[in-house]
Amino acid sequence: MSLSIPQKAGLFSRRRFFRWTSSLAATLGAAPLLHSAEAVAAPVAHTSGEDYYEKLGVDKIINAAGTYTALTAACMPPNVVSAVQRAALHPVRLHDLQQKAGEYLAQRLKCEGAIVTSGASGAITLATAACMQNANNNSPVDLPQNADGLKKQVIVQRAHRYGYDHAIFLTGARVSEVVTMDDYKRACEKGDAVMTNFFNAAEEEGGIAGTAQIGREEWLRVAHEHNIPCHIDAAADMPPISNLWKYTGMGFDLVSFSGGKGIRGPQNAGLLLGKKHLTDLAHQNNNPGEGVGRGMKVAKEQIVGMVAAIDWVLSHTEESMQGDYQKRADLIASMVKNVPSVKTEMVVPKIANHVPHLLIRFDPSVTGVTTKQVVERLRSEKPSIELNPNTGHKPNQGIPSDANTLVVGVWMLQPGEDAIVGRRIRAALTQKA
Ligand SMILES: *Cc1c(COP(=O)(O)O)cnc(C)c1O
Repeated sequence: MSLSIPQKAGLFSRRRFFRWTSSLAATLGAAPLLHSAEAVAAPVAHTSGEDYYEKLGVDKIINAAGTYTALTAACMPPNVVSAVQRAALHPVRLHDLQQKAGEYLAQRLKCEGAIVTSGASGAITLATAACMQNANNNSPVDLPQNADGLKKQVIVQRAHRYGYDHAIFLTGARVSEVVTMDDYKRACEKGDAVMTNFFNAAEEEGGIAGTAQIGREEWLRVAHEHNIPCHIDAAADMPPISNLWKYTGMGFDLVSFSGGKGIRGPQNAGLLLGKKHLTDLAHQNNNPGEGVGRGMKVAKEQIVGMVAAIDWVLSHTEESMQGDYQKRADLIASMVKNVPSVKTEMVVPKIANHVPHLLIRFDPSVTGVTTKQVVERLRSEKPSIELNPNTGHKPNQGIPSDANTLVVGVWMLQPGEDAIVGRRIRAALTQKA
């Protein structure tokens, strides 16, 4: 059953739209909460079985933040959920599944080799292990135990250092930090580098990483002059869909994506894409072997779910991928715009999380409530709402927030939740019930 959504609601009359959504709801055996005709969203998947969140007493939240791992990031679309369900019912030979899934993904994503990994973080570890092996005669190495005496430097710009460096350290590799082009050339000439790491979103305006001096093309050119493979971390950088082949197309040897962010696959899945000889080496270090990736197991359900998620992404156009995010943001903006002192603004970060975000700016001396009080109220009421963590923050990750700004990430909202979020923010800002 195809559940691709006619994204252009304008093609539908309102009545036809409601007829379409209610027949969809009937087909799915679930009634999506539709508070507004604007809420054309990815449909809610069929639900059956015991509600373990309820059983365990875990609050379900409204995710007005975005694809944050701490908030369990994305929910899978129905075709992915049903693919996962079916895969769960049959054993297969894991190696067969890994190989065929890799070939299918490589073909669909226009690269030589692909592996489904345990998230982008797992992909970075396997990429590093592959590059260490590549630089040390391709022979398998016990990492990190036997990393001493091997080539093991990973070259990174200082402005590209981040928490995911741990995924590199796990192999026993060490980071060589560079700032200027001269530093970079010197580090490449030393002969001990196995890989370079480029944090794609570090080039974001106002990015967390500050300003790096070396851009993608130059970075690649210099490393390749010294035969050093380049890895790029593009974990959160889909949409646009074309980014899935842009960086391999540019010549990056390995590219990591998170599977459970914008791609909306299983939250613990990811992709390592790139040159076949390197993805093959990465595979040698992967589960179920005995390498550094043994603890980064990806089960059959996640492998199949990741492939189904890529099929889901590729069934969209760039516009339909963005769905009705703009409409959701407009709806919420319209619900708060008459609150004294409120000004709204829409921003689309350039690289990571490249989707519309709503900024709601207000003057606490007029509203009588602070950003912190609004955040706490939204969190404490039921259903609990999480705003984007850039709320009340200085400009960051392409989002020009400040102390008196609420940031609403609309892309992970479920049908009807845009109206709930709008109503609840309005109530919080006006101190009404
Ligand atoms: C989210 C993220 C990761 C980790 O992705 P997982 O799929 O959660 O492992 C790595 N790098 C960047 C830049 C990210 O945004």
